[in-house]
Amino acid sequence: MPISPHRTVSSDLHDILSKVLSNTRLSREDGVRLYRHKDLTSVGTLANLVRERLHGARTYFVRNQHVNYTNICNKFCKFCSFYAKKGGPDPYEMSIEEVRRRLEWHRDSLITEVHMVGGINPRLPYSYYMDLVRAVKDALPGVHVKAFTAIEIEEIARVGKVSHEQALRDLMEAGLDSLPGGGIEVLSDRVHRELFGKKLDGEGWKSVARAAARVGLTQYATLLYGTIETVEERVDHLVQLRELQDETGHFVCFTPLSFHPEGTELEDVKPLTGYTDLRAIAVSRLMLDNFAHIKSFWIMNTPAVTQASLWYGADDADGLVHEYEITYNEGEFGNKTQALTYSNMVAMIREAGRTPIERDSLYQEIVREGAEPPRARSLTPLTVTG
Ligand code: SF4
Repeated sequence: MPISPHRTVSSDLHDILSKVLSNTRLSREDGVRLYRHKDLTSVGTLANLVRERLHGARTYFVRNQHVNYTNICNKFCKFCSFYAKKGGPDPYEMSIEEVRRRLEWHRDSLITEVHMVGGINPRLPYSYYMDLVRAVKDALPGVHVKAFTAIEIEEIARVGKVSHEQALRDLMEAGLDSLPGGGIEVLSDRVHRELFGKKLDGEGWKSVARAAARVGLTQYATLLYGTIETVEERVDHLVQLRELQDETGHFVCFTPLSFHPEGTELEDVKPLTGYTDLRAIAVSRLMLDNFAHIKSFWIMNTPAVTQASLWYGADDADGLVHEYEITYNEGEFGNKTQALTYSNMVAMIREAGRTPIERDSLYQEIVREGAEPPRARSLTPLTVTG
């Protein structure tokens, strides 16, 4: 017989437990209490109730490849280790041919999604972005192209001298399917001013999101946590996203992104622990009652924390992530990348006691002929250089 959550959740959270059991929206104050409560297991139990109500044991993942087409950037965000700078990564700008070559490398991996983001490189013309999207669709017909944060959309519109909406329409005509979540990091004017003042602010980010909803694009959302933001600012970010989702309904998934200080201007900031990562996932699941999916991005959280997160609110373990270059630097194009094999991803989810489901970018299940994958030998991600 299942144990009643009233016995496992700390008694001083029973008012929130009642709300969770009756599917009642949590308040901003509830979110702050959940962030501050010393009993992480209780917070995780609450989040798991929501996770299992929505998805049972199902845990999604996607076969995806990342393309970070340039690291030249004129925004100089203090939390960023990716952009080219003195003493940091060398500058690069991928030609369309180079992008094609990289897609070719993973042709056998049955990639269903290509995720493209890059720095804000003012030398790139409007046509480059259209060509980029077209090149992916030509190389991998039927693949889902998730590309360009709101900051890039603003840059693309600027160089094309068109509105956000027109830029989005042109990109969709070239083959763009959805927008990734990044770009705003945290919806706080204070953090924006102090860490990424040259980028679009919160209202600007929301205006691009609204334009995306109007033209019928799906979007994803994120929170970068662990820089200088307060707990209240993290919760406020979630409340603002929840309100925007009430208005547009076009977000499909939320991913809390754990900050890595190495190589940034914030190297003195204490690195995060798995404890904070699990709490960020759990509180997101509880606050974002109108988001269907919460993702644990294993490349930032580690596969081990991702396994635990599947009991703390996450229902998505992201993907095989070939070619991700933003958190780990070194190698050709100044970068080192990481990837999990298909069988390692499946083993990672199964070992955590959950059911792996390969999905497409819109969370439709993908069933393949002879689907039983080979047994994994190790849960360790591959490190692929260049
Ligand atoms: S986070 Fe993006 S916009 Fe900011 S410096 Fe890095 S690449 Fe540029």
